[in-house]
Amino acid sequence: VLRVPILAAARSRHLGAAVARLPGSRAIVGRFVPGPGQDDALRVSRELTAAGLRVSLDHLGEDITDVAQVAAVVRAYTDLLTALAGEGLTERVEVSVKLTALGLDLDPAYALDAAHEIASAAAEADTTMTVDMEDHTRTDSTLDAVAALRRDHPHVGAVVQAYLLRTEADCRDLAGAGSRVRLCKGAYNEPISVAYQTKADVDSSYLRCLAVLMEGEGYPMVATHDPLLLEAAGRLVSATGRGPRDYEYQLLYGVRPDEQTRLAQTGATVRIYTPYGQEWYGYLMRRLAERPANVRFFLRALTSRS
Ligand SMILES: Cc1cc2nc3c(=O)[nH]c(=O)nc-3n(C[C@H](O)[C@H](O)[C@H](O)COP(=O)(O)OP(=O)(O)OC[C@H]3O[C@@H](n4cnc5c(N)ncnc54)[C@H](O)[C@@H]3O)c2cc1C
Repeated sequence: VLRVPILAAARSRHLGAAVARLPGSRAIVGRFVPGPGQDDALRVSRELTAAGLRVSLDHLGEDITDVAQVAAVVRAYTDLLTALAGEGLTERVEVSVKLTALGLDLDPAYALDAAHEIASAAAEADTTMTVDMEDHTRTDSTLDAVAALRRDHPHVGAVVQAYLLRTEADCRDLAGAGSRVRLCKGAYNEPISVAYQTKADVDSSYLRCLAVLMEGEGYPMVATHDPLLLEAAGRLVSATGRGPRDYEYQLLYGVRPDEQTRLAQTGATVRIYTPYGQEWYGYLMRRLAERPANVRFFLRALTSRS
C-alpha cells in the first residue's frame, strides 16, 4: 500500500530538501549509505574487501537538470577510480553509474560520451563499470548506451529488471559470451502496461530470466535479497555447472548483512552495491518502499530525534 506513494515522493525535489533537513535523517541514511565523501567510499571498500566481499560503488545522483553538472560527476568517478587503483582495491571494487546522472534526458549523446569517459577510466584502473537501470522510459536508451559502450569496453555491465514484461527477451539478447548482466526485481513504480504488478508474478519472471542468464554464456550477477530466489540461484548454479568465478551474488549495503557474509563463506563471489554522496534522497526512498519495516524505522528515528 505504501510503495506507490513513497515512490511518488521519491521524485519530489521539495520533499527531498525537507527530509534532508530533518535532524533524524542522517541516522537513517547511514544504514544504507556509508557517507557523503570519497573517503567514506574508500573506507567501506577497505572494510568490505577485507571481509572477503566485492564492492560496486555508486556516486549518488540522478535526474540532473543541467548538463553543466555532468563534468563534476565524471570527475567524481575518475578521481575515485584513481584512488581505488592507488590502494590496490580495483581487483575487488568496481563502479556503478546512472545515466540520468550524466544527462541522459537532456542530451543522450553527451551522456554517452561521459559514460565512455568513466568506462575508460575503469578499464585503465583494471576494473569494470556497470550501468544501473532506471525507470521503463529509459530502458531502451540505457540498453542502447550499454551496447555502444561495449564496442570499446566489453566489460561494461548491463542491468535488467524482472518486473518488466520485456526482460526475459532482453535476457536472451544479453546472454552472450562475456556479457556481464545484473538481474534485479526493479525498484520503480511502473504501470501495468509494461510491468508485472504482484510479487508472485515478479518472482516467477525473475526465475525465468535467471534461468536464461545461467544457461547462457555470459556472467550473471544475481542481485536480490530474496531467500527463495537466492536458493533457486544456487540450484541453477549447480545444474549449469558454474564455478564461483562464473557468476556472482549482489546485495545492497546495509541489507541482510548476515546473509552477505554467509554467502561469501560458501565460497561464492558476493558484491555489495554501495552508494555514497550527498544526493541520497531518491535512493533512500526506494529502499523504504521495498520494506514497510524500514518506513517504521525511519519514522521512529525522525520522531525520536526531532
Ligand atoms: C546489487 C543490487 C543492485 C540493484 N540495482 C538496481 C538497478 O540498477 N535498478 C533497479 O531498478 N533496481 C535495482 N536494485 C533494487 C532491486 O530492483 C529491488 O528493488 C531490491 O533489491 C529489492 O528486491 P529483492 O530482490 O531484494 O526482493 P524483495 O522481495 O523486495 O525482498 C526480499 C527480502 O529481502 C529483504 N529486503 C529487501 N529489500 C530490503 C530493504 N530495502 N531493506 C531491508 N531489507 C530488505 C527483506 O528481508 C525482504 O523480505 C538493485 C538491487 C541490488 C541488490
